[in-house]
Amino acid sequence: MANKMAACIFCKIVKGEIPCFKLFESDKALAFLDINPLSRGHALVIPKIHGEKLTDIPDDHLSELLPIAKKLAIASGAKDFNILQNNGRIAHQEVDHVHVHMIPKPNEEEGMGIRWPQQ
Ligand code: 5GP
Repeated sequence: MANKMAACIFCKIVKGEIPCFKLFESDKALAFLDINPLSRGHALVIPKIHGEKLTDIPDDHLSELLPIAKKLAIASGAKDFNILQNNGRIAHQEVDHVHVHMIPKPNEEEGMGIRWPQQ
């Protein structure tokens, strides 16, 4: 476990060893922009403690993630958005540290608003 944490990209982001565009932080969670966004404002919300899958994280840490994703969805200005959470390779998980995606879906007529930085 210690080895996996030492190698974990998102643990390094939590420790400040790898930079990120931080959007929100609490004692137990961190939110930042995805480095390879599917849309402008694509954000990731992670628990600060390491766990590969949803089933590895205690409820009191997990329960912070969805309300933060909701705040980010509101802040994005997007009317439509996806909340995704992948567990395991077959389910398309690439980074083995639990994360919730918040992916704004641009409205063709109204765009995304002006609240997000350019990525
Ligand atoms: P997954 O497929 O595991 O659900 O998604 C992992 C996400 O993490 C991908 O969307 C990928 O772009 C993002 N990601 C991977 N490495 C980094 C990184 O070093 N910084 C940031 N901000 N995002 C990353």
